[in-house]
Amino acid sequence: MQWTCNCDGFCTGMCRYIRMEELVTSLFKDFLDVEEESDQGKMFHPTFITTVRALKVEPLNKLMAELKSTVNNGDVV
Ligand SMILES: [Zn+2]
Repeated sequence: MQWTCNCDGFCTGMCRYIRMEELVTSLFKDFLDVEEESDQGKMFHPTFITTVRALKVEPLNKLMAELKSTVNNGDVV
């Protein structure tokens, strides 16, 4: 699915940031924050972003936390 700017005539580029915010919001709301209950009754996240590189785990977690806070107006959730 290709994104295209719908601005009429003069585009400041803001449309791209607005769309990016919608997409990142959806990434958390519709995927990463979704919890499901397993057959054993345990809650788990079926969709997650991770890395097998030990040195990258902490920086990735920090990045995701900051990304999430930016789409939640800085509120820690
Ligand atoms: Zn535009």
